[in-house]
Parts: sequence; C-alpha cells; structure tokens
Amino acid sequence: MTSVFDDLVGQEHIIEILQSATAASRQGAQTQEMTHAWLFTGPPGSGRSSTAVAFAQALICPNNGCVTCSDCNAVKTSGHPDVEIIRTEGLSIKVEEIRELLTRVAWAPSMGGWRVVVMEDADRLTESAANALLKAIEEPGTRTVWLLCAPTLHDVLPTIRSRCRHLQLRTPSTQAVTQVLINRDKISPDMALFAAKVSQGHIGRARYFAKNETARSNRKVIMQLPTQLGSLASALQAAQTLVDIATEDAKTTSESRDEIEVEKLQEAYGKGATGRGMATGGSKAVKELEKEQKSRATRMVRDSIDGALLDLATFYRDVMMVQSGSAGTLINSDLSAELATYSASSPASSSIKKLEAIMQSRSHLAMNAAPLATCEALMCRLAQP
Ligand SMILES: [Zn+2]
Repeated sequence: MTSVFDDLVGQEHIIEILQSATAASRQGAQTQEMTHAWLFTGPPGSGRSSTAVAFAQALICPNNGCVTCSDCNAVKTSGHPDVEIIRTEGLSIKVEEIRELLTRVAWAPSMGGWRVVVMEDADRLTESAANALLKAIEEPGTRTVWLLCAPTLHDVLPTIRSRCRHLQLRTPSTQAVTQVLINRDKISPDMALFAAKVSQGHIGRARYFAKNETARSNRKVIMQLPTQLGSLASALQAAQTLVDIATEDAKTTSESRDEIEVEKLQEAYGKGATGRGMATGGSKAVKELEKEQKSRATRMVRDSIDGALLDLATFYRDVMMVQSGSAGTLINSDLSAELATYSASSPASSSIKKLEAIMQSRSHLAMNAAPLATCEALMCRLAQP
C-alpha cells in the first residue's frame, strides 16, 4: 500500500516516529506520542515542509495517509478545510497574519478529526508574531496540531521550540536522491547521478536540474565564472551575469503563477461574469495581491542568487579536493578540466578564503543586503589570487 511517507527520502528515523504518532492520534486524545506542537528542522532541501505536509495528510486521512483518497489530495493542494498550510512569500511573517490565522483555526475541525496548521517558514516569524503564536501553542485547542518548519533550532524563539517536539531531518545521500530520480521521476541514471551530485542532497533542486535544460545551462554559465575573474571589470561583469540569471530564473517561475492568481481573484470579485466591473473592494484586493507578488518576486530572486552562490561554493570546494589529491570525490565532475587548470594556478590557501567570502555574502543577502552590490563585492574578492 502506498503511503505519504514513501516520498520522504533518507528520513527513515523520522518516518517511524510519525507513523506511531499517527497511530496514537487515532485514540483521539493527546498522548505522549501524539503531541500538539512539532518542529521540523533540516537543511534546505532535506524536505522539512514535505515531511510536515505528509504528517498532516496522515493525521487527516482515514487510512493514515494513503496518498490516493480525497482527503490526502485535498491536504496536499491546500484545499482541506481542516488544514492550513502557511507558505510565506515575503521576508517575514507579521503579527497581523498570525492573529488572522488564530481566528481561523479557533473553530473545531469540520470533519471531527484534527485541525492541522503547517507553517513552512517558522524562522520568518517576527518577534511579536512569534509571541502571538506562542500563546496559541501554550494553550492549544485539544484538536489543533501545529507543525512548524525551520532550517535549525536556533531560527526559532526558545520559548516556542521548548514547547514543540523536535524532529531533525537529515540531508539525504547522493545515492538516495539518485534512486528517487530514477525510480519515481523516470530520469536516466546518468542524468540522475549528475543532478543528485550537483544539488548535494537537495531533492527539489536535483529534480529541477534533471528536468530543466535552462537550469542546467544557467548552472554551466555560473560555474564558469571563477575561471573568468581577472580584472575589476570582469568581476563586475560576473556579478551582473549572476544577478541577471537569478532574476530571469525567478521571473519565469513566478510570472505564470502571478497571472493565474490575479485572474482567480478578479473572478472571485465578479469581473467578467456579467460584463460589469469588479464588486466593491475588488481592485483594492488585486492591488494587495500584486504587492504580495512583488515581495514574493524579491524573495525568489534572493533565493535564486543564494542557490547560485551555493553552486559557486562547490567550485572552490572541488579546487581544494583537487589540490589535496582527492579528485575522485568531485561534486562537479563535469568541470574536471577547468578545475584542474584553476587548481594548478591558484594558491592552496585561497580557496578557504573564497569559500568564506561566499558564505559571508549569503548571510548578507539573508539580512536584506542589495543583491547586485553584494555580488559585486563578492566577485571582487573572488577575483583576488
Ligand atoms: Zn488518504
């Protein structure tokens, strides 16, 4: 029999816990195994939000998460009345949003089972939002289950994390990701291995590379940047290239989504149906949606740059591998010629400094630094010998 937990790659230790919690939840009351607040942490791509959604499905589905029933399906597509999946498109979750959420989930579950809230980016809660949420988690309605996700424990207020049962996800191995791509996505073994390696256990990114030729050719351009850094002009050019690719990437993913959302909203306000304009509040709602979309686009560009910087980091990581004589363990085996040339001409100590520079730029970007300026500063540092 299929299970929603089948899709979780390399998380056997967690699946066991969630399955016994699901079984315990059938007894109705909360038990030690089935608690009302959970915190899923793990590196990007380890699947913390997919895990939380799978658990929500298991709790709601009459067959413990069978994948195929209408409940499982409704939870997954955010269409179940008893499940809220909070995906943050902006840089933070504000207190007003949490207050609205709390009003919505105050009702008893419509189907008589559990009411489940999945919060995919609990690390983006502002302090006041976190405090508002804390009250709800401290005095839970007996039928509400909170599933919070964050990269690490430190990203969540201590008061919140101390009230949650914590589950730490692992980064799945290259082998596990390769197998999933071959078996479930029907990707050829060579492509699957390539995608699994370059995405370093990030299953979503691996799938993206394996299925998307533009993504692969963009990656190629980005991975060539280190070899082209000589002058100040070339460094600035490299920064521009990186930001352009990230912006384009974010644009293609978000544009079609934006249009559909606006159309749906306009329909909801009655545009088009009778030839009249939208009902009162319609254009205001569309404006608000467009504002949200803009903030989502900003975040997507940042995420995309972050992904490119992580790719770049693997270049310097591989240089260190070549220089230490372990060329057999390259992440970017497709670039072995470039890596060999670069390694021969670059001092052994410089790769560490460059890796540090990349990680520093990532944290600057995460703190809202201007993307182009951050990338320019980074490329200038990478251009140094
Ligand atoms: Zn089901």
